[in-house]
Amino acid sequence: MRQKNITLLGGTGSIGQSTLSLIAQHPERYRLFAVSGFSRVELLAQICQQFRPKVVVVPTAEAAAALRALLPQLESELLVGAEALELVASAQEVDIVVAAIVGAAGLLPALAAVKAGKRILLANKEALVMSGQLFMDAVKAYGAELLPVDSEHNAIFQCLPDLGTQFDADTLPNRGVRQILLTASGGPFREFSAEQLAQVTPEQAVAHPNWSMGQKISVDSATLMNKGLELIEACWLFAVQPEQIQVVVHPQSIIHSMVSYADGSVIAQMGNPDMRTPIAYGLAWPERIEAGVKPLDLFQVAKLNFEPADETRFPCLALAKAAFKLGGTAPAILNAANEMAVAAFLARKIRMIDIPELCSRALSQVPAHSADSLEQILQDDQQSRAFCLPELERLAAECVKTH
Ligand code: NAD
Ligand code: MG
Repeated sequence: MRQKNITLLGGTGSIGQSTLSLIAQHPERYRLFAVSGFSRVELLAQICQQFRPKVVVVPTAEAAAALRALLPQLESELLVGAEALELVASAQEVDIVVAAIVGAAGLLPALAAVKAGKRILLANKEALVMSGQLFMDAVKAYGAELLPVDSEHNAIFQCLPDLGTQFDADTLPNRGVRQILLTASGGPFREFSAEQLAQVTPEQAVAHPNWSMGQKISVDSATLMNKGLELIEACWLFAVQPEQIQVVVHPQSIIHSMVSYADGSVIAQMGNPDMRTPIAYGLAWPERIEAGVKPLDLFQVAKLNFEPADETRFPCLALAKAAFKLGGTAPAILNAANEMAVAAFLARKIRMIDIPELCSRALSQVPAHSADSLEQILQDDQQSRAFCLPELERLAAECVKTH
């Protein structure tokens, strides 16, 4: 068997680290061809030392100099800037691209991998939220193999009949699928009252009860925006409408999602919450490989609970559904506003409950357009960010006044 060459976009992040653990476990199957980092140069240097990638991508000349200073004997080719990400995502030698950059910054390289017809392991859900139709059209047009790494979507994929990786609107109904049950942990504030939610700190928000993840997705999990983005992600991946998806809060995060069938069967995918499971599945599909994940001990789990999501305390879920229904660039506008708001919350400038507030304003004030060109999507992403800047200043000033 020939070794598969992997480009890992976002190697220094949480998904990046889980991917590297799998590459290290299977040196005969996988080789790190290229890796990118953004701010954590020391970690990137360690990765280069251990995995000796052919190419490494950093954002700036300063980061390149810092990496060279740490590793004077660096053998990898060192590329600089966002365009280099597209280059390593589409390079001819590459078999698999793991799209693990967080946020809108990951869209162009993920799309470059799609247009080069690669197998793409998609963690970067924001890319699909922003450009859903265009992204999925490109997957079909260029014959790319899109495998979801987001644990819920990976679970859904595992619970579906073997249909390959491409879906049309009639694929799932024709195979007897009644509904997709998208599970959510509910985040660290599941039982908080509206008053308590107004007081939470970034430290509390990033301390997720079941998963260890990057800061942005941890805050998204705390506001339930993550579930909203995932609902949109599922609509695009599996060619379904929001009505075909039910969000099920399941605090233990043992079931990673389910598929409900016409004959009354419900198929669930379970496992300990460890992202190496969905990444390993995407790497090896349709085979299965060892992932280093602790086997599930059901007696230790003992109980699985389920409850509906509360869209009053957590309005982000409804906002995401509304954006998807509005269509066009509305989800990109929502995503950009959310990225701005999360960064401001992490910087302690606004409260967590200001995040849905800002997103809702951006969604109603920034004009959406048809999303049939990348230029339009990126332009409306920028419009939304520009709209948010003064809004954030106002919210931050109010925040200072009341504290
Ligand atoms: P993280 O913050 O740990 O890592 C983010 C990575 O993106 C880092 O490698 C960083 O270098 C890179 N990056 C950040 N800004 C960049 C920019 N402007 N340009 C280029 N690179 C940049 O995040 P994470 O938790 O690993 O999440 C990555 C993606 O995977 C997100 O889209 C997230 O929603 C998704 N995801 C993560 C998990 C998880 O368990 N961590 C689960 C499901 C989905
Ligand atoms: Mg998820």
